[in-house]
Amino acid sequence: MAILNNRLSAEQYKEHFSDIHPPFETKEAAMVEANRCLFCYDAPCMKSCPTSIDVPKFIKQITTENIKGSARTIFSSNIMGAGCSKVCPVEKLCEGACVYNFMDEAPIPIAKLQRYSTETAMKNNWHLFERKKSTGKKVAIVGAGPAGLSCAHVLSREGIDVTIYEKESKGGGLMTYGIAAYKVTPEFCEDEVNYITAIGGIDIKYNHALGKEVTLEQLQQSYDAVYLAFGVGLARQLDIPGEQLEGVVDAIRFIYHLRTQGYSAISVGDSVAVIGMGMTAIDAATQAKRLGAKHVTLIYRRTEAEMPCTQHELDIAKLDGCEIIWLAAPKEIIGQNGKVTQLICDVMKLGEVDSGGRRSPIPTGETFSLNVDMVIKAAGQIPFESLVSQEQIEHKQGKITVKEKTATNLKGVFAGGDCVNGGKEVVDAVQAGKDGAAAIMRYITL
Ligand code: SF4
Repeated sequence: MAILNNRLSAEQYKEHFSDIHPPFETKEAAMVEANRCLFCYDAPCMKSCPTSIDVPKFIKQITTENIKGSARTIFSSNIMGAGCSKVCPVEKLCEGACVYNFMDEAPIPIAKLQRYSTETAMKNNWHLFERKKSTGKKVAIVGAGPAGLSCAHVLSREGIDVTIYEKESKGGGLMTYGIAAYKVTPEFCEDEVNYITAIGGIDIKYNHALGKEVTLEQLQQSYDAVYLAFGVGLARQLDIPGEQLEGVVDAIRFIYHLRTQGYSAISVGDSVAVIGMGMTAIDAATQAKRLGAKHVTLIYRRTEAEMPCTQHELDIAKLDGCEIIWLAAPKEIIGQNGKVTQLICDVMKLGEVDSGGRRSPIPTGETFSLNVDMVIKAAGQIPFESLVSQEQIEHKQGKITVKEKTATNLKGVFAGGDCVNGGKEVVDAVQAGKDGAAAIMRYITL
């Protein structure tokens, strides 16, 4: 067993990381699907979208070939509507709520239609929003991810000048650095950031981290308000023996490197264990397999009924050939010469329902071992606790405490997205950014 890079040919990498949900091949194909929509009154698809996109309206606009209007309808509610059409777990949101599900027919492919309109707008560089005359007000945003960009776009439309401080060298946040490359490419993420900021009045200062290149006090002194949207950090530690061995990696770092260094540069083991069953765990497992790992096993301490990922994501992992071991928790990682050789797991059973509403996993006393040369940790992410403490921001275990959805304990400082909720979907972060912008506008116009 060995951890190696460059396992595949250029053609194989291209094939393995090509778009998992290809767009409509023709306008007619999009029309056929759009015309199936029943344009429901009180549409459940719209209600299940965290950004409340008017789904029947944008689909109706497609049927009348008003693609510009359709894109505007989507972007009015969700400025990252193009990216969300690729990464949203639609099976548990809009498409999962489509009335066709109750008629035992395939739901309307809402995401694919949304992609059709928004990508057409991006390709044609249609500028669908006007920025109002400058008000002279200035807002600083920390983080150029979905919450920060969404907040910035709303504020800029209202004539407020926005400066975003981003610690990375590119914008997009989780979209750019933390999602499987076969769902959304780095090139698309860059195009999306450029499309959003093309409205003007948004300046992004890259390689500027809060607490390093800039402090919260400096931002409070220089701007009328501050919006914190810096997301969450690295994967939670397993706190088991052997975690320091060569071959144990953090899922977020693994995906980050894959997206920033190119596929052939990324080393992957022959036999990989991935700990966790959230979206990041699935993304890490499927990408390890697509990089050329021979065996990939997902380890989860509960059962399929409690898993945090969607059934669709689980199906992708299974189709990619990943194995799943339910009711198992890592106990120890064994190594030789400093390198991983085995993972020892506890066999678990489910006990009482815990405070989170799920049955707690309890060790049965039995164990088993897997021969592996790589362990990827994807058991949740940790908020930036020391950063928020250092900046005197009230928090609970690193998650920023807010009132009325978005106000922090500090005057003129607002927060939203993953740094508040600990990590949700991209579409939730977009809505948080809209809520933040609304609160900031109320605050600076008082
Ligand atoms: Fe169309 Fe389905 Fe939404 Fe009804 S629920 S408006 S059929 S997409």
